[in-house]
Amino acid sequence: MNFHQYYPIDVVNGPGTRCTLFVAGCVHQCPGCYNKSTWRLNSGLPFTQQMEDQIISDLNDTRIPRQGLSLSGGDPLHPANVAAVLQLVKRVHAECPGKDIWLWTGYKLDELDSEQMQIVDRINVLIDGKFVQDLKDPALIWRGSANQVVHKLR
Ligand code: SF4
Repeated sequence: MNFHQYYPIDVVNGPGTRCTLFVAGCVHQCPGCYNKSTWRLNSGLPFTQQMEDQIISDLNDTRIPRQGLSLSGGDPLHPANVAAVLQLVKRVHAECPGKDIWLWTGYKLDELDSEQMQIVDRINVLIDGKFVQDLKDPALIWRGSANQVVHKLR
């Protein structure tokens, strides 16, 4: 997996103070996409073991308490990203007790396959669906267009 940005301290992408990772790779090609540079899987930089370790360490940093981890992109549920994202969310569960995980995807919850669902089964909130320019509404919280749904899973 490649990634474009990692913010160890972020107060914009989800509730509270968070760590946020923007991964590379997206198949959805939404007109008006805010992040076109992330579409290619091989764009950005390799997501290394060191990066994974850094995220776990940042989530457990008690000097600046983080509420959790936000995963966006690109699409964290792109089939080519599933293995690396699954490993990361498993580590957050095992090593970062009490931290929540939010994930943004262009897929709809009901069209995910069993591999992608292994990730969804381990996160707290899924924001799903493509960005639809005609349904864009700046007043929406945590989503760009009205067709997208904030699923509070657990
Ligand atoms: S799903 Fe997100 S990243 Fe992918 S094309 Fe749509 S708006 Fe862009």
